[in-house]
Amino acid sequence: MFADIHSPLQPLNFFHGYQVLVKRDDLIDPFISGNKWRKLKYILAEADRTGKNHLVTFGGAYSNHLVATAAACARNGLQSTAFVRGEAVENEMLLLCKLYGMQLRFTDRLSYQNKPLLFDRYFGGDHTALFVDEGGAGPHAVKGCAEIIAELPADTSHLFCAAGTGTTAAGLLKGIQAAQLKTILHVVPVLKGDDFISPEILKYTGPDHRLRVHTGYHFGGYAKTSPALIEFIKYFIAHTGIMIDPVYTSKMCYALADLLKHNHFNPDDKIVVLHTGGLLGLLGMKEKFH
Ligand SMILES: *Cc1c(COP(=O)(O)O)cnc(C)c1O
Repeated sequence: MFADIHSPLQPLNFFHGYQVLVKRDDLIDPFISGNKWRKLKYILAEADRTGKNHLVTFGGAYSNHLVATAAACARNGLQSTAFVRGEAVENEMLLLCKLYGMQLRFTDRLSYQNKPLLFDRYFGGDHTALFVDEGGAGPHAVKGCAEIIAELPADTSHLFCAAGTGTTAAGLLKGIQAAQLKTILHVVPVLKGDDFISPEILKYTGPDHRLRVHTGYHFGGYAKTSPALIEFIKYFIAHTGIMIDPVYTSKMCYALADLLKHNHFNPDDKIVVLHTGGLLGLLGMKEKFH
């Protein structure tokens, strides 16, 4: 199942006067969404290689990573368990996880902070279990995300991606380095804070002048929105026919719109936005669209 994927590169006629293409990783799979597919690819290969048949992972109650892991495991004949941060709840995302056969273990926030300890306590003696960090973060994920670069035009001037942990961005930058491209990587963190993401990225790549981090588009933090962002999402979807999510891809598209408005780019630049998927994130934020 991890052999063939469909992720076309499409012109985006939304940012008038600029050449913007969208890399449709959201179309790879409805449940193993976008970058989560890229991140899981080599984790599943590792499980196969080392004879593990049970992925144990971590996430919040609205984690795209949990649904992706549950679906990928079900399709590959593997078991899956998730430590879910916080008190027991039910929602659409966790329903999907359960349908795919994932075992859910709700975990108080303090215990959740030490993931290796949780894994050791419950699965330390289980040689079939593989520890998969939150969001799939790690070298396997970086390797999978680096492969995106070979699917983009070599003369891409600017590449945009949204960032949570920065693992996807690290992979993209590694891919840019390996192919020796001039592409500038623009990273839009969706969590609040100063630039905590650069060190996360550079830890995999070393210093690189092609990295730009735009810290001004988190809209108050993870899963936070503003009325302007909600209006932008509605307008974008209705005028492009491409779904974007309120947590990640909308903040990236908003950042690009804002940077274009302030003349950061030239009309002859080739700009690519990576659609990392995550559309199920809409399910957790329905009330914001009333
Ligand atoms: C998980 C996710 C991200 C964040 O990826 P990182 O590698 O953690 O930075 C970005 N976009 C979408 C849609 C996601 O689901």
